[in-house]
Amino acid sequence: EKLILNGRLMDRENASIDIEDRGYQFGDGIYEVVRVYHGRLFTNELHLNRLFLSAEKLSLRIPYTAQELTAQLEKLVEANGVGTGIVYLQFTRGAAKRKHHFPEKSETTYVAYTSELDRPLEKMKKGVKAVLSEDIRWLRCDIKSLNLLGNVLAKQKAVENGCYEAIQHRGETVTEGSSSNVFIVKNDELATHPATNLILNGITRQVLLDICRKQGIPVREEAFTVDDLLGADEVFITSTTSEVMPIVQIDGKMVGDGAPGAVTRKLQHAFEREINGLSAQ
Ligand code: PMP
Repeated sequence: EKLILNGRLMDRENASIDIEDRGYQFGDGIYEVVRVYHGRLFTNELHLNRLFLSAEKLSLRIPYTAQELTAQLEKLVEANGVGTGIVYLQFTRGAAKRKHHFPEKSETTYVAYTSELDRPLEKMKKGVKAVLSEDIRWLRCDIKSLNLLGNVLAKQKAVENGCYEAIQHRGETVTEGSSSNVFIVKNDELATHPATNLILNGITRQVLLDICRKQGIPVREEAFTVDDLLGADEVFITSTTSEVMPIVQIDGKMVGDGAPGAVTRKLQHAFEREINGLSAQ
């Protein structure tokens, strides 16, 4: 099992990180999860764009170009023989004596590793359950930062209630899942929270919005309420690992008729074509 530490491909057991790394002590860093399908990186450019945006918002230096990172990640995927899986990559502000403010001098710590991960085909067919959870996170959810305690607590609530995901809301307004974006369908029209500071602008979300534009499916990037959510014909979440995942029950109440809806299924198929288009390149 190989990984990349600071640009070097090495065996996982040989990698070590300083105990005063700011990622470890402050969560002072950012990450990305990129899907691997057919042994190739999926929508890698969009993920790296977001990575550089997150870095800029935190004045975090990434000492590589997108091209260099892509070449490294491709090498890693090949070295580990990943067919269907993910690449996790993380950049922190590096190791320095523990003080809250930015260190005068520190080298970015960069780690990338892979995991095999199947597509959640069974769950996508049947749909999954969700719980509602008050969104207690900070006001820069647009940054894909390592600080995930709000998300961790929300997902834990979901798991404790036998659910797949927690759908977060700030008061009446639905924001996003603990690790996904949320879409509703009402009268064949879609809605999802706009890409503001209150959500992470998911790559799967962006791919899906693109599919809708191309297919002429109406989507409103507008905030909607918990009542809109509970009264929707269909609800689904999107993420790199969950793709287009139907939500068929929320807080024990059925969504629509309790089965994945027609619009959701149509979008699942369209997304699958994107995945498979890759293999034809
Ligand atoms: N929102 C949050 C809070 C997330 O953690 C994720 C997954 N990382 C998403 C949305 C979905 O983003 P993506 O489609 O890029 O995986």
